[in-house]
Amino acid sequence: MAKQPVIVALDLASVSAARSLVERLEPGSCRLKVGKELFVRGGPSLVDEWVRSGWDVFLDLKFHDIPNTVAAACRAAADLGVWMVNVHALGGARMLEAARRGLDDGNHRPLLTAVTLLTSHDEQSLTEVGLRAPMPRAVDRLAELASDCGLDGVVCSAHEAGALREAFGEPFRRVTPGIRPTGVDAGDQTRVMTPRRALEAGATDLVIGRPITAAADPVTALAAINAEIGFTPPS
Ligand code: C5P
Repeated sequence: MAKQPVIVALDLASVSAARSLVERLEPGSCRLKVGKELFVRGGPSLVDEWVRSGWDVFLDLKFHDIPNTVAAACRAAADLGVWMVNVHALGGARMLEAARRGLDDGNHRPLLTAVTLLTSHDEQSLTEVGLRAPMPRAVDRLAELASDCGLDGVVCSAHEAGALREAFGEPFRRVTPGIRPTGVDAGDQTRVMTPRRALEAGATDLVIGRPITAAADPVTALAAINAEIGFTPPS
């Protein structure tokens, strides 16, 4: 099991709301995911603040650009001391290899993961952008590309995690959103799994947002999830 399998997705309306939530949590009990909105609002100084306080931060900016630009952006993320950074596998092999090299050259080497296809895609939206492969085939192909280019894993559905573990081995991380503890509203997530089932199905890291951030008591909600998966944070 990962050191702290839960990554709290900080999709909050303001920097101050994110700060107050993080102040109530302990770095031993979870990791933090900073996405585009919070990063644009709070800037690198917010990430720096949390890294200095001992947090593992997953900087979820999904870089997708020419290889040189992505490599430089990954290095900038590494300079911030983040634990994980990600890119779009659709950027292609040259971009993925450049990202890999960009991180390998630095002093601090965050984990580098790839998004295969956004879960918001369906067959029709793929056809609209000229991609003709059936979705599962496209996801497999993009995961294979990420593995071949030396990435540390992919962001995927827990439903795909077992097959990915089989294909690319245990060290290739499967970071899975779409997690809902029993009895919690699925919201806009369609193919959800409980935290324990997701780990059993092959996930290595669980990205969980609203079941924690929107709970009446986020600390208790996180503690219940950690108890469900049998993870005991250090005291
Ligand atoms: O609130 P919830 O638990 O649904 O949050 C899930 C997080 O994971 C959000 O930050 C969302 O953007 C992200 N995510 C996702 N599905 C993907 C990739 C990322 O839900 N395929």
